[in-house]
Amino acid sequence: MTDPTLAVRDRVLSLPPIELPAYVYDLAALREHAAYVRSVLPERVELYYAAKANPEPEILAALGPYVDGYEVSSGGELAHVAKAVPGRPLAFGGPGKTPDEIRAALEQGVERFHVESAHDLRMLAGLARQVAPDTRVGVLLRFNLAVADGSLAGSSLAMGGRPTPFGLDPTQAPDIMRILTDGTYPHLELRGIHAHLASGLDAPEQLAVARSIVDWATGLGVPLAEVNVGGGMAVDYTDPDSRFDWRAYGEGMARLADAHPELTLRIEPGRALTAYCGWYATEVLDVKHSHGEEFAVVRGGTHHLRTPATKGHDQPCSVLAVGEWPHPWPRPAADGERVSLTGQLCTPKDLLARNVHAPGLRAGDRVAFSLAGAYAWNISHHDFLMHPRPSFHFLN
Ligand SMILES: *Cc1c(COP(=O)(O)O)cnc(C)c1O
Repeated sequence: MTDPTLAVRDRVLSLPPIELPAYVYDLAALREHAAYVRSVLPERVELYYAAKANPEPEILAALGPYVDGYEVSSGGELAHVAKAVPGRPLAFGGPGKTPDEIRAALEQGVERFHVESAHDLRMLAGLARQVAPDTRVGVLLRFNLAVADGSLAGSSLAMGGRPTPFGLDPTQAPDIMRILTDGTYPHLELRGIHAHLASGLDAPEQLAVARSIVDWATGLGVPLAEVNVGGGMAVDYTDPDSRFDWRAYGEGMARLADAHPELTLRIEPGRALTAYCGWYATEVLDVKHSHGEEFAVVRGGTHHLRTPATKGHDQPCSVLAVGEWPHPWPRPAADGERVSLTGQLCTPKDLLARNVHAPGLRAGDRVAFSLAGAYAWNISHHDFLMHPRPSFHFLN
């Protein structure tokens, strides 16, 4: 879906320049996509949304009917999500939790903690005794597992299967499982295992990873109620019309769930749920030639949409040509077929898309960058160079 939906296109073309750049989210498209994902997943597989992909309250609320809960990874996300979608189940994870964050999560009544180290566990146990002495706090142990047969090789971002600060090392499993089941921590209840090993995996690789995690977890010899196999479903920025094969994934997860009727399986995708519902729209300010290439400088840049800079891709985009040119001075225009789109920052890294096919592109034309609904605005360095912030639009 490189092309903006009709609703997005209308909004982008109707905004005055002062409201550009703009983040425009099509919530109807988001609901449709989330409903589809939910419909092809087996009923017994729970779907949590990883809030860090895009925590806009409107997005969290739109996903509400289709998800079983939300995964949060900081005290900030915890407070924010609890306010945006009150009463929904939360799983609280992340390396480097502070005592204050854990206390707040306990006071909030968070259902599940994803514990990432022995220290994390001891802190949680100590605080649970103080804050929630009459309840048992649900614990999933996050492990950094090495999964079989190179399934992580295709990933764009590997958190597991190699040395990283995430989760527990599998060699710690026997000791930590023992103290969680021998009564050492009466305020904690071992509910299961959590792993989030990589981002950017296609359905067959994701299924292989899920099977490895479940095999490993069930091989521990301790009764478990839940296994969370993580997120990381691929979004292909080089081929925006291709989609993660949710149907095949759902069928594979159904087989896995059938093989383990005692387990609740859970997934927690972020990017592949929300990437497609957002556009970063702006206008061309200038067009220029430089050493044989053409550049169009747009209003805004990677301080609003850092995704192409962090991931090293060209952000897919569509040009929306604009007829009028309200100024008395001449309108800059591209001579050739290919134009690189850059932002207003004084750094060559402010590159949104290289060699875009945009013959005749002119200043004043609008550009809508797609796949900007996840890890876009919220991962960007907004204040660098002090340009104004974009406007935000949530279309129903
Ligand atoms: C970031 C993250 C996710 C979501 O990853 P996506 O690639 O956005 O699907 C899920 N779980 C954990 C623990 C994460 O850190």
